[in-house]
Amino acid sequence: MAFDRVLAQSTTKDRLMRALVDGRLAHAYLLHGPSGVGAEALAIELAKAVNCVNGPGEPCQVCIPCRKIGTLQHPDVRLYLPLPSPSAKSAKAGERTDGESDDETDERASRGEDREARRQELLAILAESPYVPLPFNKRDHHGIDDIRELRREASVKPYEGRRKVVILVAADRMTADASNALLKTLEEPPGDLLLVLTTDRPHRLLPTILSRCQPVRLSRLADDVLAEALTRWFHVDPGRVPFAVRQADGSLSRALASASERGETLRTTAVAFLDTIHTGTMVDVFDRIDQFLTAHKETPLIEEILDILIGYYRDLFILLETRDDEAVQNLDRRDWLMTLAGQTSAGQVETAIDAIHTIKQALARNAHPPLALTVLALRLRACRKPAA
Ligand SMILES: [Zn+2]
Repeated sequence: MAFDRVLAQSTTKDRLMRALVDGRLAHAYLLHGPSGVGAEALAIELAKAVNCVNGPGEPCQVCIPCRKIGTLQHPDVRLYLPLPSPSAKSAKAGERTDGESDDETDERASRGEDREARRQELLAILAESPYVPLPFNKRDHHGIDDIRELRREASVKPYEGRRKVVILVAADRMTADASNALLKTLEEPPGDLLLVLTTDRPHRLLPTILSRCQPVRLSRLADDVLAEALTRWFHVDPGRVPFAVRQADGSLSRALASASERGETLRTTAVAFLDTIHTGTMVDVFDRIDQFLTAHKETPLIEEILDILIGYYRDLFILLETRDDEAVQNLDRRDWLMTLAGQTSAGQVETAIDAIHTIKQALARNAHPPLALTVLALRLRACRKPAA
């Protein structure tokens, strides 16, 4: 199979491989699809395929170019990653920087170092596995200077490879200036450059950029593909696999995030929350909400916990109605779920799930988190059988 280090996506991979072998590769590709389905993995494998000494064709993975590209150390394969602004003071493109004091120069230099350190950190994550989620911050972007550097880089002949490859990760994070600069490169592609853009938000790219790239669409990964990858590639504890797959929505990156220590911490937090609701006093419940909000300020994290709670209630429903262990996602917590099942009816489980959905919608409309969680706790407390 073509590109065997890229999960599934077989039609897409075959199409690219045929183009490569027939010498019909385009100058620029846009690999797009939901995040975490393999755009970066495919970009890296494509870079290997054009530079493999046993190719062009399926990368052999053992020659020097394949190995250097795999560790992202090949001089002719350059990855650009969205990064924070080089300096808070020069964040505005084209701002004059002369006349600054030595202190400011030092600060700019240290910010440049921070940026390079950040770049190396992200590259190390990608080299480890192109499917591991990259921790981009909201404001990380490709600036005009990055694209100017890309243009310089692209115009230089390959040092040791057959073909220069530039991969622009999360291309939708280009500033307007950067997009215009990239457009020039796309209009007059230097000789042998292969430019690969990846994005999960193609609609945020300029139409003029979209029209100059060959689009390659990657699709969501099937549950069995995710489960197999988690177990065989990432050695995830089998007890965590069904839960991670269910949270993933077809994205291996999301599955890995759910299966991570952080994901496990969130699951444990959700257990403590439910336990307090079921067995604590109202004062305990308020304390729990306080602790929870101090530890998890951002709304997205609260939403993740609410999704986990829905998963627990869903499992409760299965245990109450069918006793079909196969269908239980949080099988590693079966004993705990059975205790809750003794305290809840199937009808109450349905009411509880509805209540959580309602609170999720309220949070999406910017409801005040402490109030939303208090209302949720009260509603969930009503969803249990009276103590015997
Ligand atoms: Zn090779």
